[in-house]
Amino acid sequence: MLDTAQNLIRRAGKQLNLSDEDIEQILKINAEHIFEIKLSSGTSLQAYRVQHNNKLGPYKGGIRFHPAVDLDEVRALATLMSMKTAAVGLPLGGGKGGVAVDPRTLSRQELEELSRKYVQHLYPHIGPDKDVPAPDVNTNATIMDWMVDEYAKVSGDTTKASFTGKSVTNGGSLGRDAATGRGGVIALSELLKAKGLASKELAYAILGFGNVGSFFATVAASTFPQWRLVAAGDSTAAILDNAGLDAMQLSKLKAGGGRFLDWMQAKQITNDALIGLPVDVLVLAALENAITKDNMANVKAKIIVEMANGPIDETAHDYLSSKGVIILPDIISNSGGVVVSYLEWVQNRRGENWDERKVNSNLKRYLTEAVVGILSVSKEMQVDLTEAAFIQAIRRLNG
Ligand code: GLU
Repeated sequence: MLDTAQNLIRRAGKQLNLSDEDIEQILKINAEHIFEIKLSSGTSLQAYRVQHNNKLGPYKGGIRFHPAVDLDEVRALATLMSMKTAAVGLPLGGGKGGVAVDPRTLSRQELEELSRKYVQHLYPHIGPDKDVPAPDVNTNATIMDWMVDEYAKVSGDTTKASFTGKSVTNGGSLGRDAATGRGGVIALSELLKAKGLASKELAYAILGFGNVGSFFATVAASTFPQWRLVAAGDSTAAILDNAGLDAMQLSKLKAGGGRFLDWMQAKQITNDALIGLPVDVLVLAALENAITKDNMANVKAKIIVEMANGPIDETAHDYLSSKGVIILPDIISNSGGVVVSYLEWVQNRRGENWDERKVNSNLKRYLTEAVVGILSVSKEMQVDLTEAAFIQAIRRLNG
């Protein structure tokens, strides 16, 4: 995964005629914090925080709790965060954290212990002006609340600006929970507008129905009723209904801990079959490397929206692009989360609480400008949207 991210930077750097040294400078990771967290149960867990680049502002990026977390993945995700904040025009850098753990195996008490100990290990290296973590895969507002509380205890900082994605009653921002999904909907609608397809009816499928996928679907259902959700997949199964699935109903099912495998109101298919459906748009909102050389030839969608980080590897990306598939790149289409994180950080520092309309209109402005920006770079330099997004990021990082 790190290779894919770094090669995308190398390619964009070459397009901009940067020297090898300049490109190496952008690839360089500033700091890596690798530590072990010992729970009182005796379990030892491997933890990481990688700080890639802070040229444009404090390091920014989520913390994930997942069994597949390793140093290579966290390095790749930290690198993508720097590209994301730069591409979308935020005054922030990029970092990422993670713990190699399946949080479903932990009790609530252990989860809190893990979250607090993560901060105890890391606190000299983070803070409102240094590095501001946020939620990512399997982490949420409750975990951020524990972390910000622990940070306040050890550092004395009471601004709560050391973490974003907190609950609204604890300094979080309205609109943050839906922000990544909402940003993806805005990005796709801007792309469709530019292609003259804004009012066209379209069928779409979503792989991954966690926080990001479910909000994408519910926001889309309320703003673009002409987009029909025909299939959705979670880690247990995918479901298909060509007449259209009810996004709200599915999001309630998932919020209540339900699984698509048990959902009998639609046809059951596999996630691989979902990837191969003849839909107009495929939304990838699960994990990285969902499309690789093994399944890339099955894709029939004309547009792919990358809502996970790195869901298409390099080989598959090049193959799909050569077939004319339009890929809306992760560093733009899933940047809604970090955009509203930034707005949360601004509110915390100013002691303000914005209403949801103000948050959402700022989110829309950032996403619209980012998509319009990469469409114009893509035209100007005759490159695909992924390369255009990396070019946009590198221009800012190197400016
Ligand atoms: N984890 C999210 C991402 O990958 C959000 C990061 C943030 O809000 O800092 O973009």
